[in-house]
Amino acid sequence: MFYRLRHNFRLSIITMLGVCAIGGITPFAVFRFLDGNTAAGVADTLIMVSITATMVYAWVTGDTRRSGFIMALIACSGGVAVAALLGNVGLFWLYPPFITSFFLTTPRIAVFINSAAVAVLILGDIAFESTEHMLSFVTTAVVVSACAYIFALRNESQRIRLEQLATLDPLTGVKNRRAMEEELRAAVATHERNGLSYALAMLDLDHFKKVNDAHGHTVGDEVLMSCVDVIERNTRQSDQLFRYGGEEFVLLLPGVEDSGMRAVLDNLHRALQRELRDPDGPVTASCGLALLRSGESPDEWLDRADAALYEAKENGRNQIRVADEATAGSSEKVETEV
Ligand code: GH3
Ligand code: MG
Ligand code: MG
Repeated sequence: MFYRLRHNFRLSIITMLGVCAIGGITPFAVFRFLDGNTAAGVADTLIMVSITATMVYAWVTGDTRRSGFIMALIACSGGVAVAALLGNVGLFWLYPPFITSFFLTTPRIAVFINSAAVAVLILGDIAFESTEHMLSFVTTAVVVSACAYIFALRNESQRIRLEQLATLDPLTGVKNRRAMEEELRAAVATHERNGLSYALAMLDLDHFKKVNDAHGHTVGDEVLMSCVDVIERNTRQSDQLFRYGGEEFVLLLPGVEDSGMRAVLDNLHRALQRELRDPDGPVTASCGLALLRSGESPDEWLDRADAALYEAKENGRNQIRVADEATAGSSEKVETEV
């Protein structure tokens, strides 16, 4: 529970609003009923119940996009209803939704919801005592919304930047090993749920140390970037490439069976043989392949691809090996003509 709250910002705002709704609105709802203001008491109760229900929905389904939008809508329209019933005292209830809407939904939708709430109040003339009172409210509402808008935009761009720093390899721009671990876990879960087949290819450049030793790291880096370029041009959009480390790459291929996996990698291997070179000539790659088995963990799957790669290296490099479906640990060679 605390893990989800810490890692899901929108869920934490939804929960905060839900808890505040229960703790903050309940005493007012009770007071309104005791005071004889049944309409306001019913409105408070309805707002509280719908916000709580939306919070529960967000926790159960994990759909924070929809529940955030619904909660922003309920909070703002609830604020308008309270202002209509109570007059100027009710207007204070609109400031929390005006701020939180920017963290519950996208900034553009939040601007729309906040503007709609202010427009209804002005056009309906339901809560203001004078023009000066109305102008004061509109000005403060705009200032509060503008500050929240800027803060939300900044927060979002920093979140995206941090996510990129944490998941992308700075040299080649492909996803890194950390991102790979998450994607492999997701692939295994999808396979267990609906049987979608997945293949994993582990690629390692042959004698890459010699490239660096003979031509320097800058040329080595260029070969790595060129390798990524060749792989990306010879795989599908849905295939995912990760830099596993150094000159090793992992390619995740969703929706391919054994023959498809061999065909894709065969084609890719030929492309690498044709296009990948350093100033001395071709740079080759070895590859280990493994189809995901039911009941297998991501580490076991990766280990089988790694073992197949090891065999490709042992057998002379510049070749593809497929982890044997029948016998764990052994693999078979796929011939690739130059
Ligand atoms: P093998 O065929 O057995 O794979 O031999 P290899 O030389 O490719 O493998 P080894 O693991 O001995 O060397 C890998 C080299 O990759 C050593 C390291 O300097 C180089 N390397 C790792 N990361 C980078 C990088 O980001 N840029 C450059 N230019 N070189 C890198
Ligand atoms: Mg190597
Ligand atoms: Mg290596």
